[in-house]
Amino acid sequence: MVNKDDPTLMFTNAGMNQFKDYFLGNKKPVHNRVADTQKCLRVSGKHNDLEEVGLDTYHHTMFEMLGNWSFGDYFKKEAIAWAWELLTEVYALPKDRLYVTVFGGDKGDNLDVDQEAYDFWKVIVDEDRILYGSKKDNFWEMGDTGPCGPCSEIHIDLRPEEEVKKIQGKELVNNDHPQVVEIWNLVFMEFNRQASGELKYLPAKHVDTGMGFERLCMAIQKKSSNYDTDVFTPLIEHVADKAKVTYGQNEQTDIAIRVISDHVRAIAFAVADGQLPSNTGAGYVIRRILRRAVRYGFTFLDFKSPFIYELVPILSSQFGEVFPELKSQQDFIAKVIEQEEASFLRTLENGLKKLDGVKEQMKGSGEKVIEGKLAFDLYDTYGFPLDLTSLIARENGFTVDVESFNTEMQKQKSRSKADAAKETGDWHVVGDQDNIEFVGYEKLISEAQVVKYRTI
Ligand code: ATP
Ligand code: MG
Ligand code: MG
Ligand code: MG
Repeated sequence: MVNKDDPTLMFTNAGMNQFKDYFLGNKKPVHNRVADTQKCLRVSGKHNDLEEVGLDTYHHTMFEMLGNWSFGDYFKKEAIAWAWELLTEVYALPKDRLYVTVFGGDKGDNLDVDQEAYDFWKVIVDEDRILYGSKKDNFWEMGDTGPCGPCSEIHIDLRPEEEVKKIQGKELVNNDHPQVVEIWNLVFMEFNRQASGELKYLPAKHVDTGMGFERLCMAIQKKSSNYDTDVFTPLIEHVADKAKVTYGQNEQTDIAIRVISDHVRAIAFAVADGQLPSNTGAGYVIRRILRRAVRYGFTFLDFKSPFIYELVPILSSQFGEVFPELKSQQDFIAKVIEQEEASFLRTLENGLKKLDGVKEQMKGSGEKVIEGKLAFDLYDTYGFPLDLTSLIARENGFTVDVESFNTEMQKQKSRSKADAAKETGDWHVVGDQDNIEFVGYEKLISEAQVVKYRTI
């Protein structure tokens, strides 16, 4: 999940990231057909689902993207037929609850309807279950140039029977009904976009598919929320028990419980992958996620001491077999999280008090925008990431002056250039002087982590 070799992407956000070189023709794959699960994190850049997480029930920060891949091997016909077979015959999902989308073309960009995909689908599903999708949803591009192509998505209608009768699922698929959910995206890479904007056919065509494991579980287990599947229930139950609340009875505590159960996965898997929380780069992304979870617990569940780390053994017993890096580093991960929590909890309460005072003042004066200076003070003195202050502001009907926050940040950066030079990076580089014997990847990584952690 943590990207160590790609400077353009801190975290893997789609199954295809690892295979980029095969699509670009820079490398030859060992196998032309692959099936896998890829841990993804969507909290920054092009894919940022952070604000959705916890509020809805099917966007996570970290999730598993299941995929099957054809590198110049099978194409549309097989990918479509096999996807349908897997969902309806192997997983036994009800056919009358599934809808598919195909690319409907884009006149502005001179792109045709994906008639080929439509024709393959039409052999398998009733035509009233096939919808046309826009370029935004149904045409995939890696960047301004390079491999690209139309895609076909499969959505499932998980609403109760009575509701399904009232409104046709087809009307809903693209209207974001919380219980009509996209589960699988089949991308057909057939073009190569030139710098001129022109599309040429690729010499070899590829298939790239992505299916959210947690959403698939929801569909198979006939639930209406990812959090009601066994991927999440052990975590949810632990948090709810500890908070002495019942999940499902109060929207505000439910959101907090969902956020914590989601965020612990992102944090634990990142640490397992070698990415520790820190003040810069990828490490700061993890720290932000953790602090967000701590504050949800503190404010809505009355957790005044570290609590997230307690979820690590649960997560490890759920996923340790599939992801052994979690089990082998379980204690280390829990320790890192506990110390991070403890450190933020030392300043959180005072920061919140300060913010409360300002909120009261603002309510009195009718002011709606929190000054960048204050947001910066919360960041600098109390360790509040900007997105946390913005979240609390939003909950109270305010916004934050991000521009002036950035100005304050800039000012501080130039004040402490010398300090910045001393800043430790995200990785501890084990040099000769450390005199460490190479005893295997995991051992080396965890020792490096311990060393790094002590230096913070
Ligand atoms: P959505 O429209 O629901 O945001 P997407 O179109 O952005 O999904 P893709 O980029 O097509 O998603 O990713 C492939 C699959 O990964 C999706 O069909 C979905 O099942 C799953 N997925 C995408 N984003 C998330 C997320 N944040 N949490 C859980 N699963 C996700
Ligand atoms: Mg999305
Ligand atoms: Mg989508
Ligand atoms: Mg999609």
